[in-house]
Amino acid sequence: MRFETKIVRAGIEPDPTTGAIVPPIYQTSTYTLEEIGHDKGFDYTRSANPTRQLLEENLAAIEGGKYGICFASGMATVDSCTKLLKAGDHIICSDDVYGGVSRHFNDILTQYNLHFSYVDTSDPERVSGALRPETRMLWIETPTNPLLKITDLNRMGKIARQNDLFYVVDSTFATPVYLRPLEFGADMVIHSTTKYISGHNQIIGGIVITNNEEIYEKLKFVQKTIGAVPSPFDCWLTLLGVKTLHLRMERHSSSAQKVAEYLEQHPKVKLVNYPGLPSHPQYSIACQQMGGFSGMISFELKGGIPAGKMVMNSVCLCSLAESLGAVETMITHPASMTHAEVPYEERIARGLTDGLVRLSVGIEDPEDILEDIEQALSKI
Ligand code: PLP
Repeated sequence: MRFETKIVRAGIEPDPTTGAIVPPIYQTSTYTLEEIGHDKGFDYTRSANPTRQLLEENLAAIEGGKYGICFASGMATVDSCTKLLKAGDHIICSDDVYGGVSRHFNDILTQYNLHFSYVDTSDPERVSGALRPETRMLWIETPTNPLLKITDLNRMGKIARQNDLFYVVDSTFATPVYLRPLEFGADMVIHSTTKYISGHNQIIGGIVITNNEEIYEKLKFVQKTIGAVPSPFDCWLTLLGVKTLHLRMERHSSSAQKVAEYLEQHPKVKLVNYPGLPSHPQYSIACQQMGGFSGMISFELKGGIPAGKMVMNSVCLCSLAESLGAVETMITHPASMTHAEVPYEERIARGLTDGLVRLSVGIEDPEDILEDIEQALSKI
């Protein structure tokens, strides 16, 4: 199957009993055994569920991996990957990760004697400089949330191999339509399926995809032991969402390009972060490793915080909302919303200023999105 056919069809066969083209929702917690020691591949839904298994197989195929393991949220996925580590281990992490990830690392995992260094992974020298004898994992987010920094995945793959590190890439912003990190040597690719993968603001979920059987067995064990699993209904909704992923991403990406170009030439805008703009510091790497630039933009206004607040309170079509990656255009203030718990000094050091606005460009008519932004900018 070609890539776009896999998105629609991989792993999905008509239901053997009825021929239903849409797979059924196996809304069951348990399964009867034919006799002691003989089940039909399922015994208890925390361990495995047919609807969840379809989603795992479908997303693994799209990502170009052998194994997929679904979790109840992107954060449950993040947590489960770190269960591969042991006390005393050190993790090098991109400095501009989603605020919930750094909160989890700093406020929870440090209590278990794990150690973290945050570095600008768009500069490979800094990653090499942060290595310690006890470094065991390299945690990359690309493009980052919310500054849209890009990391060279080939260079990271080399560092990970040379130093025997687990190499994890959070590819939530790019989706497999535009980036497939396993092709660059990643051991694990993770997604918050809450975002583009499901795409309709309807579920919370996550997945990790790997080609490594040992990692798969360990994460499968974590999945069934901890039980942070998505419901069969959420898996089913995600399966429906995935079917249009390639079409949605094309529109997200083409509209975001238009919005980013519009913002960049606007006299009230100080700075625009979008990997599809030649002014982006890692534009050439983005062009090399990504097939498109996705739908996320962040920008700063010349009028700082008051101007940002005015724009966010003046938009009509764009929804002021915490999430991203869905069909509706959403606008966010990272400093008070998604990244509110990143300490002030750390935020400023990262370049995540109070005036930064994040835009998740939806799939409405781009002219309507532009008109809404234009009328909001005219208020400042
Ligand atoms: N990774 C990234 C890049 C995110 O943006 C998010 C959430 O915004 C997560 C992980 C966490 O996902 P979830 O909200 O599904 O737990």
